[in-house]
Formats: sequence, C-alpha cells, structure tokens
Amino acid sequence: MQVFAILPAAGLGTRMASPQPKQFLALGGVPILIHSLRAFASVARITQIYVAVRMPEMDRVKSQIAEHGFAGRVHVVEGGEKRQESVANALLSLPAEANDVVLVHDAVRPLIDAATIERTIDAVVEHGAAIVGLPAVDTIKQVERTAHGAVITATIPREFIVLAQTPQGFRYSLLKDAFAEATADGFVGTDEASLVERAGHPVAVVHGSQVNLKITQPGDLELAEFYLRQRPR
Ligand code: C5P
Repeated sequence: MQVFAILPAAGLGTRMASPQPKQFLALGGVPILIHSLRAFASVARITQIYVAVRMPEMDRVKSQIAEHGFAGRVHVVEGGEKRQESVANALLSLPAEANDVVLVHDAVRPLIDAATIERTIDAVVEHGAAIVGLPAVDTIKQVERTAHGAVITATIPREFIVLAQTPQGFRYSLLKDAFAEATADGFVGTDEASLVERAGHPVAVVHGSQVNLKITQPGDLELAEFYLRQRPR
C-alpha cells in the first residue's frame, strides 16, 4: 500500500487582498507552500506528493521545490478554476492502485503537524475515509440571508458540529469514484469529504487543532507567525 498526498495550491487568494496568492507569501521567511510540503515530506509513509498550481506559477514552484530539496518526491501539475478541478487534475496524474491512500491538504494550512497526518493515514486504513475536524466551541446558528444581513432560523447543538479541516484522506478507488460521480452530476463541493459523503460512504473524523489554520484573510498570517514561534525547535 502506497500513500500519496495532493496539495492544491492554485487558488488566487482574493480574500487576502495581497498582490500574490497566499500560498506564496512568506511565513517565518519561508513560503507557506514550502511549510506545508515540509510537513508531508517528513512523514516517511508518504511516497509521492503532487502540488497543483496555476500555469504562470509552474516555474517558480518547481525551482522552490528544487531549492528546498524536495525534487524527486514532489511533482507539479496544473490546477484548475475551482479547488475541485485542481484536485481532480492531480488525481488523474497519480500512479495509484485501488487500495492506496490519498491525502488532500490545503497548501494554505502550513502549520499541519506530522502526528496529525499520521493519525489521518491510520484512520483511512481503518475506515476507508477520514478527515481532520475541529469540534465547535461557539454556539452554532443556522440563518436565512436577508437584504439586511441574516436572521436566525435554528440553533444547532454544537456537539453535532465539527469544522472540516485538512488533510482529508481516502482509499484511492473511493475518491476516484466519488469524483467521477460528482463530475457526472455537476456537483461542486468545497472539500473532498462532501463528494465521498454524497457517494454514500461514511467518513471518520480525526481530532484537529486550531493551530492548523487556513491562511485566508489579513491577520491570519500574523496568527500563524505567532503559532510558528511557539513551536519547539
Ligand atoms: O479557496 P480555498 O481557501 O478553499 O482554498 C483552499 C486551497 O485550495 C488553497 O491551498 C488553494 O490554493 C487551493 N485552490 C486550488 N485551486 C483553485 C482554488 C483553490 O488549488 N482553483
């Protein structure tokens, strides 16, 4: 059994209001994408890593990969307009067999740690599908959007809520079939688990941490810098 990792890194990062996509911004002097790659490269069970990027960024990413010593184990493929397309393109490139494990991780979650990646792989081996999720601490409201904002329609007991993070891992055959089904139905999800759920397969949850944040908007980078400084060296 082989373990592959896919890092979609073809987003434009429009919410960040920065001149370049957030996956290329520096965190502690190192590009965010490189932090994410380092975490996956540190897990010996992961044999190949595929990064999906936009065409204009191919050369820059390839040279960063070589500069940081990942050449050979990390491959670069073209991303798409939507995250789902970026992952689908990478999935097409994997030399994987049905029983292999595929992990998908947002390139913009640079503070993922090796232990969480290992626990996700173990859960996929046991259940076929597993994601990292963070239990909700806030009270969760369902709302109806209005012209003036939103009005609450229900309170959802928070013990029923986890916030989906990545990595999200699956047996290759399960993920490939779920993608094919979603494409046939024109379904576009914001994560891989939603495709596998609608295909009818249960997805286990591995305990995540707020340190594994997704760098999305201004301020997130400062918070990530803070977490990075707290890390034991
Ligand atoms: O846009 P979002 O915050 O969901 O992006 C999550 C991850 O998916 C990021 O690493 C981003 O670069 C990637 N992505 C992608 N292709 C897209 C859109 C997002 O690879 N078209």
